[in-house]
Amino acid sequence: MYSEKLNKLPPYLFAELDRLKVEKIREGIEVIDFGVGDPDLPTPQHIIDELCRSARKPENHKYPSYDGLLSFREAVADWYTERKGVSFDPELEIITLIGSKEGIAHIPLAFLNHGDVTLVPDPGYPVYFIGTILAGGKPVFVPLTKENNFLPDFDSIDAKTAKKARILYINYPNNPTAAVADKKFYREVVDFAMDNNIIVVHDFAYSEITFDGYRADSIFSVHDAIEVAIEFHSLSKTYNMTGWRIGFAVGNADIVKGLKLVKTNIDSGVFQAVQEAGIAALKTPQKTINEIVSVYKERRDVLIKGLKESGFSVEKPRATFYIWMETPDGMGSMDFSRTLLDQAGIVTTPGVGFGDHGEGFIRFALTKNVETIEKAVERLKEAGL
Ligand SMILES: *Cc1c(COP(=O)(O)O)cnc(C)c1O
Repeated sequence: MYSEKLNKLPPYLFAELDRLKVEKIREGIEVIDFGVGDPDLPTPQHIIDELCRSARKPENHKYPSYDGLLSFREAVADWYTERKGVSFDPELEIITLIGSKEGIAHIPLAFLNHGDVTLVPDPGYPVYFIGTILAGGKPVFVPLTKENNFLPDFDSIDAKTAKKARILYINYPNNPTAAVADKKFYREVVDFAMDNNIIVVHDFAYSEITFDGYRADSIFSVHDAIEVAIEFHSLSKTYNMTGWRIGFAVGNADIVKGLKLVKTNIDSGVFQAVQEAGIAALKTPQKTINEIVSVYKERRDVLIKGLKESGFSVEKPRATFYIWMETPDGMGSMDFSRTLLDQAGIVTTPGVGFGDHGEGFIRFALTKNVETIEKAVERLKEAGL
């Protein structure tokens, strides 16, 4: 019944865990869910107020422009200049998206011919390989290993594959591993992409959620990145706006134009009132962002301390709201997640759900308050896992 492309997508892996979760809830156990990467905090009030104001304007009730409001794209340009020290032309180098997932899923349609290869991090955000398959392309997975700090090792990619590849996906600060990248790494990425004529898609969704003085660089902080790269950003994670569906991409004008061409033929842009609220979001004072980040920092510290006291070995992440932890005694990630749910009522995401090289790890999302995290830690200690 379904297309070959759809049939090529992997089956849903977590049905059994979902069943066990429902069973636990039925038994009256208060399940603590660290599974989903969806902020629990509300969108800041000034953004909601701007939406309400803007929704009342009749001129916003029409089809929006395909590229997004120029005023939104100008706000994006200012945001990049101010926060990352790089500048873009709002007319040619910036596009508004219906959430960054939408853009990431659509970009392969602009650049892949049937059977074309993309290089996809494993473990990684599933949309990279799914977008590739839906566009008729062929994902080739590049392992992210602990030994290499969860960065791709370009020397391990054989020359023939590199020459065939059209797109390379990278994502730092990284989901699910919480790894970060520096300028030296981006230099390597851009050189590799220039040598092999590859488009770099950098997913920068967690750029502002960084701790302990660490600040995440844009790929455009290295020379010549503008020749080969596009960077996707999401308002979802920084401003607690996952439900609003707004994001953007910046970068090489021809790459941005390819994505625009696809989108012009598929969707009709983001509700202008949401874009105007997006402008308010991008102008959020740093103090408010600091408050949001410090909430995650406190949660991180409480959970890391609790995990260590429970005998697990785990590293403190410098960014994102995830903790990526090795399973004990080389236990399978699915098995370990099942055990945590069964014996402590705690939901985590098995690493294997992000790719074969995610096996041996689980992911906690820090989207529960400190009180709940403390309760989870108590249960871990009681269960003696
Ligand atoms: C959450 C997330 C996104 C998607 O964000 P939206 O803008 O809400 O679509 C993209 N990439 C990564 C790695 C994410 O974790």
